[in-house]
Amino acid sequence: MSVHTNGQDYLSMAINLATENVHNAGGPFGAVVVTPDGQVFEGVNRVTASNDPSAHAEVVAIRTAAAALENFDLSGCVLYTSCEPCPMCLATSLWARISKVYYAADRHDAAKAGFDDAVFYEYFEENSNRALMPVQHFRDEAVEHLKPFEAWDHMDTRIDY
Ligand SMILES: [Zn+2]
Repeated sequence: MSVHTNGQDYLSMAINLATENVHNAGGPFGAVVVTPDGQVFEGVNRVTASNDPSAHAEVVAIRTAAAALENFDLSGCVLYTSCEPCPMCLATSLWARISKVYYAADRHDAAKAGFDDAVFYEYFEENSNRALMPVQHFRDEAVEHLKPFEAWDHMDTRIDY
């Protein structure tokens, strides 16, 4: 992998945010979203500090960028993160249309530090053991499962994404 000089700076920025966050009641994770015109939006892990299980650094950086740019579509933006994104952060990056992701430490480094999300990765693999958290498709005639989509379909003012 080759990261141009600016990229290395942004990765260092994410790593420094992660390190500082440890001393600020947060987890050891930091991330920055960089727009094509060079704007930088930071995020740090606030899971325990905010009692928010979804407050991973990458998600926080994406939320901050999207709110500031007033756009849910971050196409063209690059995400730099101190550690390999977990499945939630990968999915959030995909929904945000992030163009590219660079990470420093990997999932094995994280596991050694006590942050083991290997079981979450495995959860999404085909024929994986779903005993961790059963997700069941529920279908009953009394449940109008297509009602929200029909409402969406008929909404002229909808914003597709
Ligand atoms: Zn994550």
